[in-house]
Parts: sequence; C-alpha cells; structure tokens
Amino acid sequence: MTLVFERATVLDCTGRDPQQRMRVQVEDGRIVRIGKADGSVMPRDARVIDCAGRFLMPGLLDAHVHLASTELDEHKEVETPPAVLALRIGKQIEDVLDGGFTTVRDAGGLDWGFKEAVRLGLIRGPRLIISGPFISQTGGHADHRPRTFRPSSEWLSGWSRDSLIADGPAEVRRAAREVLRRGGDQIKVMASGGAASPNDELDHVQYSVEELAAAVDVAHTVSSYVMAHAYGPRAIQNCLKAGVRSIEHGNFLDEETADQMLESGDVFLVPTIITYELLSRLESGNGWTEPNVRKIRQALTGAYDSLGLAYEKGLRIGSGSDVLAGMHRDRGREIACHARVMGAMAAIIASTRTNAELLRLEDEIGTVEEGKRADLIMLNGDPLTDPGLFGEPQNIRMVMMGGLVVKDSDGPLVGLAATQ
Ligand SMILES: [Zn+2]
Repeated sequence: MTLVFERATVLDCTGRDPQQRMRVQVEDGRIVRIGKADGSVMPRDARVIDCAGRFLMPGLLDAHVHLASTELDEHKEVETPPAVLALRIGKQIEDVLDGGFTTVRDAGGLDWGFKEAVRLGLIRGPRLIISGPFISQTGGHADHRPRTFRPSSEWLSGWSRDSLIADGPAEVRRAAREVLRRGGDQIKVMASGGAASPNDELDHVQYSVEELAAAVDVAHTVSSYVMAHAYGPRAIQNCLKAGVRSIEHGNFLDEETADQMLESGDVFLVPTIITYELLSRLESGNGWTEPNVRKIRQALTGAYDSLGLAYEKGLRIGSGSDVLAGMHRDRGREIACHARVMGAMAAIIASTRTNAELLRLEDEIGTVEEGKRADLIMLNGDPLTDPGLFGEPQNIRMVMMGGLVVKDSDGPLVGLAATQ
C-alpha cells in the first residue's frame, strides 16, 4: 500500500528550514517521493494522512540508553524475580516508541534476548543497537560490587548490572569477544570513574591505552567500534589514543582535549545531560547513596560547559539521554537540554542526523529524504520554537517505523503499513 502524508510541514533534519505544505509518499517501508502537496497527481489507491498544521520529521535516535535499568537501588533489582524484571524491561522498550524514538543505542546491560523478542513480535520496540554487558576494570565504574562484597553470588548473566570485569589487555580482549558472542553490536567500556559506582570518583582514570586498544582491536575485527564512558581530559585522551570512536558524557572536556578530538576525525561526543538534571534533584535513600548524590551534582556542573566547548569547536555531537530506572519516559527532554547550548535546530539534528552517522546508519535513517527508511514522527507544535515538546510523549501524535504506523494518538492508523 502507498501511504501519503499530505500538507505536512517537513523538518527533514538535513539542516534545511522547514518546508510547508509538503507531500511525503511512502512505499515498501521507504520514503519514495517528497514534493509539494497539491502539485501532482495522487497515486492511485493511496491512503492519505492529512498533516495540516503538523510537523513531520524523522524518527528520533537516542544514542545512550539503558533499557534494562529498572531500579536505582541495586538490592531491589537483584531481589526482583527474573520474570518480573523481563516484563518490566519489555514495557520500557515498548514505551520508547511512544516518545518518538525509533532507534536507540543501548549503552550496556540490555541482553540480546530483548532484541530477539522485538524481532519475533513478542513486544513492540524501536530498532535496538546493543552493547551487551559493560566491560569494566576491577573497582571500575561498572564494578557494582560494594567494598564489602566477597565472591559468592551470581547475578543474571548479561542483564542490567552484570558486567564483565577485565584487567589487562588480554582479559579485555577476551571480554570484548564475549560481548560479541552474546550479540553486542558495539563494545562499551568504562574509561573513567562514574557517579553511580561505589568505589571511584569521576576524575579517576580507568583502563590504560593498551587495555582500551585491545577492545578497539576486537571491535574492528567485526567492523564495529568502541564507545567509552569517560568524564575527564585524561580518560578521554586515553580513549583517543586507543581509537575509541564514541565518547560518552565527557562532562569535563577541556580545550586541549577538544582539539585532540577534532584532529582524531571519526570521533563523536555523546553528551547525556537530562540524567544529571533529574538525578541531581534526588536526595539519598533507597540505595542511592550520599556519594552518588554528590558525584551526580558534580557531573552536572560541567555538563553544559563541555557541550558549549564541543559546539564552539565544531566537534561531532550526538545525543543521549542515559535515563535510568523510573525516568525512561523523560528521554525526549535531552533535546531541550542540548538546545539551551546549541539552539533548537542543532539539538534536533544531533538526535537525528548526527546520531544516525554515529551509528553508521546515515544511509538508512536520520533524515526525511527520498530513499530513506520511513521512520517518521508527526508532532503537535513547532519543535524549533519549543524543543521542550519532545519531553512530553503526548506531543508525538504519530510514529511510523519502517513504513508501519506504531503509534497514532488521533485515529485508527496503528498497524497501517506501507511495507512489502
Ligand atoms: Zn550510561
């Protein structure tokens, strides 16, 4: 079937200004024609969707999610029955689409089985690009064991908080291969301390250049890449020397390091600000400790300045939310955080076109152009004047993924398909 979006204001995310009164024609899951509405003969048997007064743009991408995160309190999560945990994670995956996100990169913790469940149609879900288990050094950011821990208990393999602890290039190489064996699309390593971990500080450097390079080498064997959690200059510089492609968070980027990122070429910064905004409002309790609170607030102090520096320098800036536990419906608020620094257009492009480049999917998704996959969302309101509207899923009136309508707030279009 041919589907036609008629009289839409198209924000194509190539960088062009919005085009009004447009017609976008979708066939076999792809955008086949974009032109002026009323300008040409309507294809025969087309199903027309009137978009008067509405914005049509590409489905959003979130380059840093943790869809397996269900609780901030580790103990609660460990005590949850695996079946309950699986169903909760499934619900979180389904909710992603309602916010207009059609592709997400999981930055660690989501088991391959969930990707399979989406493929089998057991749950609705976005395109999932996963990292499998985190790789962390002993005592590093993804070593969730408290200081009192002694080896005895086993957590669900590959799930949520389960990490591969590896020290030295040989162990990191083995862990990276294990990630690939378990279905990881890319490899996630922890290159610095972090806010949620029990035994480190944000400016602690974790992993040597040699250890990081071992992970990069393994990733390259399958034409993939490494994404690294890294806050400060020294950790980021180690990543650059080792050939890491995606720098996550980067809250304490400095000028010298930003210049090195620019020289490195194929490197992206993925700021994740909304998670610090939301978590910094929490007081300690329920497994969220005083040091967690202090470190999150500390991380927030650098977040906007780092993004400002990266933008000024012309770095390639993607967009991630990093929202955890009960905050999964807030991921769209990241765009307004980015917009405070970059302006709305650049913030929207970060979460569409640039994220698609980061995921090496720019030939398929990320813009509204002829030949691209029909991942499209229809919005209530103008996102250029109010980028905050992405923060409320009800403003995303319709979501199409690969030519299939997966959300329609205004009518009965769900299930309607321009697929083969
Ligand atoms: Zn993260």
